[in-house]
Amino acid sequence: MIAVLDTSAILSGKFHSGMADRVVTSPSVINEFSEGGHSWRLMQYLRDAGMEVIAPPESAIEEVLKAARVTGDIENLSEADIEVLAVAFHLKGSKLFTDDYAMQNVASHIGIDYESILQEGIKKKLYWKYRCSSCGRFAEPGTEICPVCGGKIKRVRWK
Ligand SMILES: [Zn+2]
Repeated sequence: MIAVLDTSAILSGKFHSGMADRVVTSPSVINEFSEGGHSWRLMQYLRDAGMEVIAPPESAIEEVLKAARVTGDIENLSEADIEVLAVAFHLKGSKLFTDDYAMQNVASHIGIDYESILQEGIKKKLYWKYRCSSCGRFAEPGTEICPVCGGKIKRVRWK
């Protein structure tokens, strides 16, 4: 599998070269990184690991622009977004890694396989318990005063 990375995928820091046979991005994506700093290091790390920088052919850019006009996402796409979509469109057997919804929308419209990096996942469920701040006994939800010592009951996060 050829992994095509957009800026968000690189910035996530979660992608590593072992996840694909080839790792590719586009020149405009590289240009979005300014030298130095944490973001730059994330990008440089992937380049050192063999990430290729490929400019897509004009015909692929045209296809992406056409699709983006149809889906109405064109206003939400940067030059780098369009370019990297075109790289994914151009390279057979590639998968686009992006967390950008507009890009994902255009990708699905023109048959580009894509995957999110920062999966939202299942929102972590919070558990609460009610506990006396003086003696530490647990109390029923809604209790304000500890029935044992008269202390104040507080809601505490559990797990
Ligand atoms: Zn108490």
